[in-house]
Amino acid sequence: MLIGIMGGTFDPIHIGHLLAAETAAEEANLDEVWFMPANIPPHKASAPLATSQQRLEMVQCAIESRPSFKAIDDELKRGGTSYTFDTVARLQQQYPDYRFHYIIGADMVMYLPKWYRIEELAQLVTFIGVGRPGYELNLTELPPALRDRVQLVSMPAMEVSSTDIRKRRQEGRSIRYRVPESVRQYIERKGLYES
Ligand code: ATP
Ligand code: MG
Repeated sequence: MLIGIMGGTFDPIHIGHLLAAETAAEEANLDEVWFMPANIPPHKASAPLATSQQRLEMVQCAIESRPSFKAIDDELKRGGTSYTFDTVARLQQQYPDYRFHYIIGADMVMYLPKWYRIEELAQLVTFIGVGRPGYELNLTELPPALRDRVQLVSMPAMEVSSTDIRKRRQEGRSIRYRVPESVRQYIERKGLYES
């Protein structure tokens, strides 16, 4: 089995995440994509606004109709800071016969050299990098050892972010079509990101 891991804060999940997963799955022939909400993301200055449970439930809503997409709560259950190396090392032990790819947007690709235990992580996974508006995807700026571990796939530019969706909610503006309808309804029902 070839598994793509789509890590993120998912505060909330949006169509950029979903199209990245779909494109990576298609281009790299992934059997499944595992959406993995981070408990505490290592690289973010502020804590998520929605609870861990809510972020997980929004992911579940978003991928409900897609059997090969799964919501995995390993990082939430483990607690603490969610280092991808720890997550992948544990998964590889748990599923010795599976191969793992890790899907990331352009902002994260360029940030890879700063990731926790990146040399070891890069031995465990191939990264699948997708473009993201506002972030240049220039592999030549990465150290060669890392560059060789990133496979780029192209997808339509999606100028959407969780930050923008939270801001829209705060301003009382529409988030329709930026998130799946089921996620929009969940956000409204719970009154998330209103203030
Ligand atoms: P925030 O604004 O809170 O940082 P975000 O939209 O960047 O949220 P994250 O949960 O931080 O979402 O991102 C998870 C992963 O999805 C990262 O690898 C990120 O690069 C990727 N990603 C997020 N949005 C897009 C997008 N619009 N296009 C491509 N990749 C994306
Ligand atoms: Mg982000």
